[in-house]
Amino acid sequence: MKVLKFGGKSLANGDALKNALDIISREAVKGKIFIVFSARGNSTNELEALLEAAARGEEFRSNLKKFFAYQTFPSSALDFKNEYQEIEQLLEGVSLLGEYSLKIKDRLLAYGELLSCKTAARLLAERGFNVRFTDSRKLIKTDEKYGSALVLLDISEKNVKEYFKDAKPDTIEVVTGFIGSNLQNQTTTLGRNGSNYSATLLASFLDAEEVQNWTNVNGVYTANPELVPDAQIIQSLSYREANELANFGTNVLHAKTILPLVEKKIPIKILNSFNPEGSGTLINDKGSGKGIKAVSVIRKVALIGIEGRGLLGRVGIDGRIFSALSREGISVRIISQASSERGIGFIVDQENAEKARTILSNEFAREIELLDISEIGINTDVAVVSVIGKNLNFLDQSYGALRRNGVRIYLLNNTINGEHISLVIDVRDLKKAVNVIHGHIFGAFRKLNLLLFGKGNVGSALIDQIINTRERVFERRNLKLNLVAIADSKRLVLSANGLDKEWKQQLLTEGKQNYKVEEIIAFAKEHHLENVVVVDNTASKELVDFYPLFAESNFDIVASNKHANTREYAFYSSLRKILKKKQRTFLYETNVGAGLPLIDTIKLLHVSGDRIQRIRGVFSGTLSYIFNQYSESDREFYSILLDAVKKGFTEPDPREDLSGNDVGRKLLILAREIDLKNEFEEVKIESLIPPGMRNGITVDEFFSREQELNDWFDKRKKALNPGEVLRYVGELDAEKGTLEVKLVAVPKESTMGEIRGADSIFEIYTESYGDNPLVILGAGAGAQVTARGVYSDILRLAETL
Ligand code: ASP
Ligand code: MG
Repeated sequence: MKVLKFGGKSLANGDALKNALDIISREAVKGKIFIVFSARGNSTNELEALLEAAARGEEFRSNLKKFFAYQTFPSSALDFKNEYQEIEQLLEGVSLLGEYSLKIKDRLLAYGELLSCKTAARLLAERGFNVRFTDSRKLIKTDEKYGSALVLLDISEKNVKEYFKDAKPDTIEVVTGFIGSNLQNQTTTLGRNGSNYSATLLASFLDAEEVQNWTNVNGVYTANPELVPDAQIIQSLSYREANELANFGTNVLHAKTILPLVEKKIPIKILNSFNPEGSGTLINDKGSGKGIKAVSVIRKVALIGIEGRGLLGRVGIDGRIFSALSREGISVRIISQASSERGIGFIVDQENAEKARTILSNEFAREIELLDISEIGINTDVAVVSVIGKNLNFLDQSYGALRRNGVRIYLLNNTINGEHISLVIDVRDLKKAVNVIHGHIFGAFRKLNLLLFGKGNVGSALIDQIINTRERVFERRNLKLNLVAIADSKRLVLSANGLDKEWKQQLLTEGKQNYKVEEIIAFAKEHHLENVVVVDNTASKELVDFYPLFAESNFDIVASNKHANTREYAFYSSLRKILKKKQRTFLYETNVGAGLPLIDTIKLLHVSGDRIQRIRGVFSGTLSYIFNQYSESDREFYSILLDAVKKGFTEPDPREDLSGNDVGRKLLILAREIDLKNEFEEVKIESLIPPGMRNGITVDEFFSREQELNDWFDKRKKALNPGEVLRYVGELDAEKGTLEVKLVAVPKESTMGEIRGADSIFEIYTESYGDNPLVILGAGAGAQVTARGVYSDILRLAETL
């Protein structure tokens, strides 16, 4: 025999009620069933509202008619004239008196379940089933406590057993939830949501094989899905675990509801009548055996803090605090005390906060007067986040993550057995905190919220790479990449849930113009985004001005933009101070050598204490291409330059490449990596632009002076010895402290002489590598490889979470 309980929302007019009846029909053919209904839809609240209206002397009949129109809607055969009259009479009485007792209220509210079950019986009969309707007031006996009566278990059990002794196997038993009666046969109710309790009691009295609790949710979630979109359904829970969840604000089942099932080990399933195929959550005596893990939230609380030098080492203060509060019926949830005993903090329900302060001010009037207690503070802008289930590693994992996300933790409470941990935090951080913690515990996945600047070659290549690969990244690394903002110099699009394939179109058509960077920061805060990463693929100097603010806002930064690392040293070092203070990460592997793992290697060598003596290399893929071609062939310089322009290897004005400034900047970045405090002006750069063409002429003019260019480079080529080639090289000499960029002749047979295409090469000379440098060689330019490099930085950053 099974007991099926349906909640109000699963019984609303329309599809809901039809689904419920379908489920019942399906189960009824499998075996004997008992069904317990709540009041349908919002009926209990509506009855309560009618009662209030009547007590205020307001007109109630029009709403009462609406109420009954709703009740009779499912079938023309439903006739509730009697019930209508009874309720009308009750309300009239209340209206005359101008008030009502809890006893009257229970009598009225009972109609919700009575009407609902009569409806069920009627509709199931119409479907051809044998049905018996039972008013549970005949069976469930309670004490006198109207509104939340205590069930008298022995009598009720006897009544139930007796009554159903000769129940027919093919009859569907329809029993009202929520209501009972006291020994004077007055109607009582079992407290809000009491139908669940009715169902489990019935199951226990009759030794049911299971209880199906049909609701409008898919089961018990690891966190409230409204707060945590990634919350998952918990497949199974033990009774004890379910209890724990109920106690910590998870809206599963009231703790007392589970009790009747425990002794007889009757399983209960939480199922969704709107999604009957779902597996739901199974609660039984075993659970999953793994210990549940869930994150729950308690709101509307207040943090009370008592502080003062007089508390130091004094015995009995705590006792007085809690007995004073308990005398007045105020319960205290989370207590935390500094080990010096100079202060104590605890949580009470928000509605009790002021009262608690008054009580404590009275209790400690003398101490306050003597200035032994300096203050009793109340903070109502707090919430409690609890992690339930064995989570011994939780603290290590989540604490850092919360801090990195700028979540302030006021109190922390860890039960001795490690079964749950509670954190009191600022309510403004609640959503973010719950998501961060949830992400950590379930290790299911982490999420990076990306703010992307720049949609040029690299920028758009990156966005497309992310969109095309993120599913795979999710599968392999449990990492979600959410594109929250995409901005170029003109427009901005934002989406907390993430942008997709259509981003380009969206940016063009819906993009906000003349946006401010501050708006993006504000958006991230407003949406409580965790793990925010700014990705800068622009060449903008202005955006770099915002880096300190990004760090202050707890964002990490990944950039292909070099400006942050090549500006004056004062900026460079102050940015790093802020990053350190806020524990933020700034990655820029693509600043030098595009996707090649150069900066990381240098950093590692440097921190590991291997002294770097010299770095030498072909830093520019563009110039690599040009000189590799030029050295090999008999072609004139100009035609090779045009080639490079056509292939998109150069800047629109190739003089930016030929000036050597870009190589100079890269050299500076490497120098600063090994703690040299150089400025850009100190880099000695040999420009490759013929002197007469450097300033004061347009690009077109530049391109029109073919002969001058050819002659200038011809001179250099003619001066080469046999077996030599030209390479444009950057060189850093750490011993001498010099940074130099110049065109040099190198043997064709050397590593540097042998490079091809647009490859970059870097030779790193260190103490331990001696004369035989560490060489890093490969494609050092191009949008796709650079975007890959930026992508790697983003993934690397995710590893640090
Ligand atoms: N109808 C009652 C309520 O809304 C009992 C129940 O739904 O379980 O609280
Ligand atoms: Mg309900």
